[in-house]
Amino acid sequence: MRTPLIAANWKMNKTGSEAEDFINSFSPMVKDCAGVDVLIAPPFTALSSLSALLGSDSNIKLAAQNVFYEEKGAYTGEISVQMLMSAGCSYVILGHSERRQFFFDTDESVNKKIKISLKNGLKAVLCIGESLKERDGNKTFHVLEKQLAGSLKGIGLDEITIAYEPIWAIGTGKTATPEQANEVHVFIRKWLKDYGEGSDNVRILYGGSVTPENIGTLIAKPEIDGALVGGASLKPDSFAKIVTGAIK
Ligand code: PEP
Repeated sequence: MRTPLIAANWKMNKTGSEAEDFINSFSPMVKDCAGVDVLIAPPFTALSSLSALLGSDSNIKLAAQNVFYEEKGAYTGEISVQMLMSAGCSYVILGHSERRQFFFDTDESVNKKIKISLKNGLKAVLCIGESLKERDGNKTFHVLEKQLAGSLKGIGLDEITIAYEPIWAIGTGKTATPEQANEVHVFIRKWLKDYGEGSDNVRILYGGSVTPENIGTLIAKPEIDGALVGGASLKPDSFAKIVTGAIK
């Protein structure tokens, strides 16, 4: 059985001290939580201090929200895999719809970012999802297939997590129903199985307006292996309730 994973995407929220305050409240709330993995993706500026605060034995791991696909060099404003790993990251979230929309990430650039991450030992959480127009036009599976094929081209499935995040559900309060999400997760699982070895171990997270109130019905679905949480991950008590609510 796959251990559920609950991941927080803080986006462009929290200064270093606000991030430390969160961890000081949140860690004790989840310290005895066996049976669920916890990941937090703070802004880059908080990674090193949170890594020091958590220590190497913590059950809370750190993720970055992006990485560049070159090792180093003249790329003003970018950040490398080595920098993230030395700041305490073990995961990176890639291809989030906000990055695709505002920062021009494409399946091709995401593919390069996944490749350099895995090569250097950073695990990848690949985000995919359809817009409302695409869903209404019955294009959901076609869009997801294109994103999966383009982003995973030439990549093995070890150390990959998929986050299915329908764009219409992100930050809108409109969660996909557990049935809608599970139907898509079944499709993704089948695609992964046809794609390559190790698909059974790939965790498929749902993301889009997950809250303490709806995590129970989502996680009860057989193909939902956890959640990527934005807004509801910013407060320690609400994120802790989502973590505890995800234990299968
Ligand atoms: C996200 O941005 O990844 C996300 C799922 O946000 P929210 O939970 O706020 O919808």
